[in-house]
Order: sequence, then structure tokens, then C-alpha cells
Amino acid sequence: MALEIYAYRCRKCGAVHYPYRMVCRRCRQNAHNEFDPVPLPRRGRLLTFTILHTLPPDFNVAKLGLGIVELEDGLRVTGQLDIAEPKAGMAVQGSVEVVRRGEYEKTHGLVFRKA
Ligand SMILES: [Zn+2]
Repeated sequence: MALEIYAYRCRKCGAVHYPYRMVCRRCRQNAHNEFDPVPLPRRGRLLTFTILHTLPPDFNVAKLGLGIVELEDGLRVTGQLDIAEPKAGMAVQGSVEVVRRGEYEKTHGLVFRKA
């Protein structure tokens, strides 16, 4: 089963938020946390990116790409890039994977590849 990351849809106006918010950004009426979880779309467009060359040792890689992606529903998320030559505007597809592995723990996050 593929792992999902969830956004939150306001039950009053339908606006989708990620990450979670206590009050809806659009209608500002949602004082009772009335949101429904919805999976983030998998596909999007790379808006911008950077390449990190100095990382903590538990990343165990020489360099790491990080990008901001606009998903199909308009939400913007950050994620790691598994793309040899990223270009702004390119179509990407994301999945939830282990993005950092410590001695006793692992962290999951979004990883984007060329669509
Ligand atoms: Zn709302």
C-alpha cells in the first residue's frame, strides 16, 4: 500500500489546506476544526529548486535536491528531488518515501521524480 500525505478540506467552503490549519484561510469561519482529510495529489509542476552540497552525515549522500512543487489542486509543497537535472516548470510525480534515516529512526516525506 502506498503511503499518503493528507491535506485538509474545509467542510464549510471546500478550501483545501496543507499543512493543517486551525482556522480556514478562506472563510475564517471554521472554529470547530471541521476539516476532512484528503490525500495530496501525486502530480504537479516544479516551481523552483535548490541543490544542497553540505548535509548532516545521516543523509549519506553527496548532494540533495529540494524543490517547491505546485500540485494539480494548486497546493504548494516542498519535497526532495530524485531528478538528475531539475528544471523549473517541469512535470513531476511524487511519492511518500523515507527521506532521512537516523540511527534509531526514519523520517518519511515527499520525493519527486520526473513525470
Ligand atoms: Zn472554509
